[in-house]
Amino acid sequence: MHEISLLKNVREILEEHAISEKFSKVIKVTLEIGKLSSVEPDALRFGFDVVMKDSLAENAELLISELNGLGLCQQCGQQVELETSYDPCPHCDSPFIKVIQGAEMKIKDLSVI
Ligand SMILES: [Zn+2]
Repeated sequence: MHEISLLKNVREILEEHAISEKFSKVIKVTLEIGKLSSVEPDALRFGFDVVMKDSLAENAELLISELNGLGLCQQCGQQVELETSYDPCPHCDSPFIKVIQGAEMKIKDLSVI
């Protein structure tokens, strides 16, 4: 499951931040998931407790905020909302749309002590 490796990545980032920002426990993590990132929120929730076990984020609360996909049409220059990376432009039907938002997952917010 590709969510597990993403979560391991998150855990590593948290551990690095704990050293540089001198905190010892994570209470709450907010992850922002782009709708085009092919990350399943349910799979993340499922994997979170498993991956964070025995880390500074063990028992932390996970919040997930979803970010809409946005693209820029390379033909007519309009900004369009995307449900998938393959949507054509609703204005001119062009398939050439550059994704400008929603393809990534990132840590949006952290509560730590
Ligand atoms: Zn267009």
